[in-house]
Amino acid sequence: MSFADLAARGLVERNRSLAGMTTYKFGGPAAWYAEVGSTATLRELAAASDLPIVVIGRGSNMVIADDGYPGLVIKLSGEFNEIAFSGDKVRAGAAVSLPRLARACAAESMGGLEFYVGIPGSVGGAVVMNAGGHGSDTAEWLVSASIFDTQTGKIVEEETAGLDLRYRHSRLTAREIVLGAQYRTVARSSDESEAMMREITSWRREYQPGGTFNAGSVFKNPPGDAAGRLIDDAGLKGERVGGVAVSDRHANFFVAEAGACAQDVYDLVHRVRERVADASGILLEPEVRFVGDFGTSS
Ligand SMILES: Cc1cc2nc3c(=O)[nH]c(=O)nc-3n(C[C@H](O)[C@H](O)[C@H](O)COP(=O)(O)OP(=O)(O)OC[C@H]3O[C@@H](n4cnc5c(N)ncnc54)[C@H](O)[C@@H]3O)c2cc1C
Repeated sequence: MSFADLAARGLVERNRSLAGMTTYKFGGPAAWYAEVGSTATLRELAAASDLPIVVIGRGSNMVIADDGYPGLVIKLSGEFNEIAFSGDKVRAGAAVSLPRLARACAAESMGGLEFYVGIPGSVGGAVVMNAGGHGSDTAEWLVSASIFDTQTGKIVEEETAGLDLRYRHSRLTAREIVLGAQYRTVARSSDESEAMMREITSWRREYQPGGTFNAGSVFKNPPGDAAGRLIDDAGLKGERVGGVAVSDRHANFFVAEAGACAQDVYDLVHRVRERVADASGILLEPEVRFVGDFGTSS
């Protein structure tokens, strides 16, 4: 089936707004967009399309350019939202939200993934980013992930070692789509897991700028240091471009106000990066992913 046939069937949409699908709530449209609920449809779509592909999870680590993305944006749903338990393992589809997975495991007395309760991403995004916090990360609990190669159409069950998961890093490239992941867990009472999750959420409430539009940590922490401390020490708390400012609460969070746009984030990231480099000699590496074309930073 051709891409035109898929569009005629309504599987792919033209110029679909993505702003509501990210935590920043801004950014332009996808030239082409498909919400895909099954592996069979995903195979069909990948075979029919020669457009560059970006998968959007819960958009919590992404800044989409104000002009949008000129290729195909895929959002997984349907079968990719399923969670299945087997012995001490849990398998979750790539679209499953991390807080939902944490709570589902806790309800089954399966511990380990409590730290996911505070990370507003999806399983797919967590594998790609090796999401982590509170002394743990995805790599610690992941057994394997199911990976679809959009160019060959092949699906492999890749063990954790083959994903090269390091601090906010995996070896996965844009041509690969995470379909789901299998995790190990440890026996832990639901009450104990619930208590751990309460502690995590109250810690986040205290130290992170809750109730704002942001994408979590903007920069990765450099080895042995914290990006937030370096930004703070460079005197950049409150620094702003347009409607986006360095949070007064946590300097590695850039929060957006009404009227802000994606270019503001991009420009602020570049300004902060330069100022921190001038002040400390350390060149921070962005953790957020910029999608689409951005103008030259002012
Ligand atoms: C308030 C807040 C707090 C946060 N706290 C943390 C934290 O403590 N620790 C942490 O690690 N992160 C944190 N984050 C960042 C973010 O939640 C994580 O990086 C998360 O793993 C991203 O998941 P996502 O589904 O939102 O990915 P998206 O933002 O949608 O995408 C991120 C990248 O992954 C790719 N991707 C997403 N899904 C797939 C898939 N199925 N297959 C292939 N590629 C895919 C995208 O193309 C993109 O390159 C925070 C974010 C916010 C807003």
